[in-house]
Amino acid sequence: MKITIIGIGSVGSAIATAVKNTGLAHEIVLYDTDGIRARAAAEDLGHAAAFSFDVKITAANNYRAIRGSDIVIIAAGANQKPGETRTDLLQKNATVISDIVPRVMANIDNKNVKLVIVTNPLDVMVMLAQKLSKLPAGRVIGTGTMLDSARLRVILSRTLAVSPQSVNAYVLGEHGDSSVVAWTPATIGAIGLDDFCRQTKTPLTANTRATIEHRVKTAAYEIIRGRGATWDGIAGAVADLVRSIINDENRILTVSTVSGVGAKSVAMSLPRIVGAVGVTKTLMPKLSKVESYALRRSENIIRKNYGKIKK
Ligand code: NAD
Repeated sequence: MKITIIGIGSVGSAIATAVKNTGLAHEIVLYDTDGIRARAAAEDLGHAAAFSFDVKITAANNYRAIRGSDIVIIAAGANQKPGETRTDLLQKNATVISDIVPRVMANIDNKNVKLVIVTNPLDVMVMLAQKLSKLPAGRVIGTGTMLDSARLRVILSRTLAVSPQSVNAYVLGEHGDSSVVAWTPATIGAIGLDDFCRQTKTPLTANTRATIEHRVKTAAYEIIRGRGATWDGIAGAVADLVRSIINDENRILTVSTVSGVGAKSVAMSLPRIVGAVGVTKTLMPKLSKVESYALRRSENIIRKNYGKIKK
């Protein structure tokens, strides 16, 4: 498997490490407009071949080097500075995606290529990348709320003293401030969340739920305040997504792809089945009225933001 990563900043380099450590790629190409940075990352990461998987890692000077890639990951563009929201990056990163995607499509020769979008504001960038690439919607996949869902699962698991692997809980909608924590469909193992809390005598009060929601939604802001950017969590999410594609695992992941047509089209996160051909099915969990309303609101925010960018 040949994987290209475009944008080798904090996120792109962490993704390169995480993808390398899956052992599933035989070649990883790194591209950045800052060629010195890409070359340094390729060299640094390449030395780690002596300690783990022997993956060929190269820095590309131009887009011709991406030929033959099975997956192209786009993590280029501005990140949030302390206090900034993801939406503040809208036009700046729309320009970056508009620069990258046509170049990728002009050079890619693999008709089954999948684009993985990481750049924020994520959902709008997925819509733009899908439009520019003209690829089927299921092959332009944003990491969406994979990271938000992971944060929810980990925080819930600590609260309930159970492994995060046993927590099935989703954050839906925008990867941004309007994301929706879906409490109604959450299960621990195969047991509904409320039932689990009753049986284990670990009540999850409205206050506790509100605190958990707040922590999930503000996690990125806290991390950015402390270390300037976030990269480890998203790198784990991308490696997980790449694994599901390469191994054709058909995992259910809350990724963002475009659905709907014309004025109704939007990219947002819902549980979707992801395998070798990309996203094959989208599932809609049962939600409460409040959650459904919040999801519709989130969808409208994404659509409105997409309408604001110069295309
Ligand atoms: P960074 O500033 O460290 O790196 C960005 C890199 O992109 C730089 O090396 C820059 O040279 C490169 N770049 C800019 N324009 C380019 C272009 N046209 N072509 C090729 N390379 C280009 O930023 P970062 O912290 O690595 O964040 C990258 C993006 O990832 C941001 O948009 C950030 O918000 C996003 N992000 C997303 C998630 C998520 O869950 N989806 C999580 C964290 C960060």
